[in-house]
Amino acid sequence: MTITNVWRVKQAGGEQLGSKLSEAARQLREGGLIAFPTETVYGLGADARSTAAVGRIFAAKGRPSDNPLIVHIAHRKQLDELVLPYPQLAAALMDRFWPGPLTIVLPVRAGALSPLVTAGLSTVGIRMPDHRTALALLVQAGCPVAAPSANRSGRPSPTLAEHVLEDLDGRIDGVVDDGPTGVGLESTVIELDGDYGIRILRPGGITLEALQQAAPGAAIDSASLEEPEAAPRSPGMKYTHYAPQGELELVQGDPEAVAAYIQGQVEAARMRGEVTGVLAFEERLARYEADCVLSLGSEADLGAAAHLLYAALREFDGAGAQRIWAEASSGQGIGAALMNRLAKAAGNRIIRV
Ligand code: AMP
Ligand code: MG
Repeated sequence: MTITNVWRVKQAGGEQLGSKLSEAARQLREGGLIAFPTETVYGLGADARSTAAVGRIFAAKGRPSDNPLIVHIAHRKQLDELVLPYPQLAAALMDRFWPGPLTIVLPVRAGALSPLVTAGLSTVGIRMPDHRTALALLVQAGCPVAAPSANRSGRPSPTLAEHVLEDLDGRIDGVVDDGPTGVGLESTVIELDGDYGIRILRPGGITLEALQQAAPGAAIDSASLEEPEAAPRSPGMKYTHYAPQGELELVQGDPEAVAAYIQGQVEAARMRGEVTGVLAFEERLARYEADCVLSLGSEADLGAAAHLLYAALREFDGAGAQRIWAEASSGQGIGAALMNRLAKAAGNRIIRV
């Protein structure tokens, strides 16, 4: 068992932040596993060039080895040694969205990264996080940092340092605690099709609508919306993700019909003696009577819902919920990422009423 250090950096000023991060940065540089906050969720970082270090990420998370990792950088100049020449569109997207929650899949330079990072693909997903603590840590570590979400594989991603410890205490070297993350859902992962096309492999913090302003042909890859196909373009698409321990069902349709359906299901489950949970928008919260009713905020503010989602899924576990129903939202803007994560958390059990 490893001792997991916790470095609390909340409210640390510039210089103070640097000194609070120096031990975490040193450990990263020397092959350690360090969880850190980003504007999306907490990541579990390791030196992306070191196979020994990256191998520990897969072991600590219990992550399937064919699911590649995203590499995090602090400066554009780090890119040249990691990737081969890329389309002009990629540079334009970096100008526009970096630092930020956009992962761009680019052709990897042979030998630049541990082969575990790319899971044998000829490409690598790279992003620059928009978070002062993440950037300061990356600068001090001085290496490209491979970092998936800092949860046990399959579980909801961590939006607080406490969530990281819940899953990984004793399995990693440390966690930098800077309080809650921003967006609350992972980055958007995209692949480019020459200089005009953008395919969204995983919806996230940068929306389809925002990408369409940069490239009108931008579209969400169908495999990220529906049942994953046999050979998904992004390996992570085929795994169950973000799931609470109870069985979750996502319910879509006219809001009144959705509320009536869910409450009926809850009552039937309670008759069977099951512990029930409901995840709903503020507008209809009072309609539900279950063992654990949690709010995603107003359906007029899906950004707030994104921020709340993973903590709520973990709270159902704390309440011992065995059957959970969630209201679907619109799929516009950040709603696309929210529905993608809920559908995965539900193992694609989606009921249309
Ligand atoms: P996570 O690190 O848990 O946020 O997951 C990273 C996601 O990015 C997974 O869905 C991966 O399959 C996807 N991904 C990472 N690298 C690539 C790549 N080179 N090509 C396609 N998808 C990738
Ligand atoms: Mg993840």
